[in-house]
Amino acid sequence: MSGSVTVIGLGPGDPRYLTPAASAALDAAQDLIGYIPYVARVPERPGLVRHASDNRVEVDRARHALELAAAGRRVAVVSGGDPGVFAMAAALFEALEAGDPAWRSLSVTVEPGITAMLAAAARVGAPLGGDFCAISLSDNLKPWEVVTARLNAVLAADLVVALYNPISRARPWQLGAALALASEHRAPDTPVILARAVGRPDEAIRILSLAEAREASADMATLVMIGASATRLIPREGRAPFVYTPRSVAR
Ligand code: SAH
Repeated sequence: MSGSVTVIGLGPGDPRYLTPAASAALDAAQDLIGYIPYVARVPERPGLVRHASDNRVEVDRARHALELAAAGRRVAVVSGGDPGVFAMAAALFEALEAGDPAWRSLSVTVEPGITAMLAAAARVGAPLGGDFCAISLSDNLKPWEVVTARLNAVLAADLVVALYNPISRARPWQLGAALALASEHRAPDTPVILARAVGRPDEAIRILSLAEAREASADMATLVMIGASATRLIPREGRAPFVYTPRSVAR
């Protein structure tokens, strides 16, 4: 089979955060597949067929990409941030595993991107300097009991926790529940970062205490980071503090 699929990470939004490899893969594509706002980020050009979809079922989109590639097309599937972080790459492999065995001989590659957690961390200092983890709060694809069991485990292990998909119109209460759990494990003055639309014109970053964060609002463009017990602030006169987590842990 001569077609190909490349799953491409577009980074958090700022075009300067698109890697040269991702950019080259976009230039080589004949078909562009993805969720509407991500496809919109890729400039139109002659010879590029755009398939922007509102379909939330990522595996359907992945199957479409594989079918086009099986017909000989060079297909780019785009995700915001990194495509392997709560995004299209896993859906692509799920469709590949379950689909036509002939698809396995297609050229399938993944081009990484800067994920929201890393872009947000860089804005405020080095909150991910120690051990950390990422959890999606969305219970579309897993039961909420699994989310809370995992949150409890990683909070007890004193990891910094990055929360993706903290909230949406259909899921208004999950972030509050997660922060309530966090306050069972962490002091009220633990730093919490609410990083909204990082790398986009409407970027807004708040550095709050856990107690303040429980009262704050967030939306689906927000990445939430809950500090570990060692995560600290460096206050600065008239400027936002730096936030960092020391790499060393006392023996
Ligand atoms: N693949 C993406 C994540 C997709 S899940 C990545 O690697 O970044 C969608 C969630 O990612 C959003 O609900 C939000 O929590 C986070 N997110 C994505 N882009 C963001 C950005 N520019 N700023 C802050 N959070 C972002």
